[in-house]
Amino acid sequence: MSAVRIGVVAVQGNVSEHVTAIERAATATGHEAEVIEIRDSGVVPDCDAIALPGGESTTISQLLAREGIDEELVAHAEADKPILATCAGLIVASRDANDDRVETLDILDIAVDRNAFGRQVDSFEAGLDVQGLDDPFHAVFIRAPAVADIGPDVDVLATWDDRPVAVREGPVLATAFHPELTDDHRIHRLALFDRLAAEA
Ligand code: GLN
Repeated sequence: MSAVRIGVVAVQGNVSEHVTAIERAATATGHEAEVIEIRDSGVVPDCDAIALPGGESTTISQLLAREGIDEELVAHAEADKPILATCAGLIVASRDANDDRVETLDILDIAVDRNAFGRQVDSFEAGLDVQGLDDPFHAVFIRAPAVADIGPDVDVLATWDDRPVAVREGPVLATAFHPELTDDHRIHRLALFDRLAAEA
């Protein structure tokens, strides 16, 4: 298959883990992939797909706006190019973070509660049935957001405790958990490479 360029937004958060997961998913799907870290504007437009990592959503959204990367990510989604947003990335991608300090991208029609699970327990792990994956996915949740409200065009791919924890709308797939923290790259494959293959 042809070479693809995947960008990992690297203003803050779990960057290297995503790079590794994407490289593994590329190998598994027979793609030649160039994985690049994005800290400045001007790079997103050259990427076929993007990962938007977890970290701290207030910081990430402010840095994206300051660097002018925010508008490029919106244009990327509008061009129907794949984006995987995880944890704080899900918050940043959402319509409404219920927190004025987070400037959301509004590329995913959900409202979220930041740290909703975290008020009860800081982090936890769970085996999830994820639509599109044959076997359960071992999900690591760290101060995870809860999806409070979903729009009509959003598909729920997985739930935990009756709450959506993996959702998809068009090119944007978002998880409340951290798929980059285990050796299992199937979420990266599903969100990025399977989507690219479906488009081709
Ligand atoms: N609780 C963090 C936030 O609101 C997200 C946590 C994470 O990405 N692990 O930004």
